[in-house]
Amino acid sequence: MSTPPTPPTDAPARPTCRCGHDRTHHFARPRMRYGWTAWLLLFSGASAAPREILFTCGRCGERIERVTDPAILRDFLNH
Ligand SMILES: [Zn+2]
Repeated sequence: MSTPPTPPTDAPARPTCRCGHDRTHHFARPRMRYGWTAWLLLFSGASAAPREILFTCGRCGERIERVTDPAILRDFLNH
């Protein structure tokens, strides 16, 4: 009996598309999705954080990741 090798756990794996791009790659195309309250804020001229961001690959068109973590959403908008 042999034990399978354990993968390194220090680097958290981000979801990627089939060509291996993650959401931080420049091929990634973010698509913002807003809730109704955010739309109202946007229409009144205020800035609002999206409810979620869908990242798709600009090369293969495959969905990379769906981000709903508010911390990541705000961090993304501040870039
Ligand atoms: Zn791709």
